[in-house]
Amino acid sequence: MTDIQEITAFQKEFDKKHDWIDDYEKMDEKFLQRLQYATIALAGEVGEFSNELKKILREKHIDNFIDEKHILNMKEELVDVFIYLVILSLILKVDIAKEYFEKMDKNNERFRKFEK
Ligand SMILES: [Mg+2]
Repeated sequence: MTDIQEITAFQKEFDKKHDWIDDYEKMDEKFLQRLQYATIALAGEVGEFSNELKKILREKHIDNFIDEKHILNMKEELVDVFIYLVILSLILKVDIAKEYFEKMDKNNERFRKFEK
């Protein structure tokens, strides 16, 4: 099983190796530039993901058929979204696993009335 720490460490090394982001720890003048780029890239990937759904809905409406390639494309775009979430968690120094469970505790409280 791969955990999120392993994924974020891999991403860090990948970005360093490709000379994209050399040091996530630095809060230098490049911080805002990195944050801006990654945010725009994340929005772009969410757009690509959504666009595949648009194609599915359009083709379903016209031909009453769902082409599997759009589902495969959605899976790939979802991974692209995840990559930018990992990059943003590195830029913003978010411990994503810890904060996920803290947020889910809050959601648990918030949605308690819907529990079965
Ligand atoms: Mg993509």
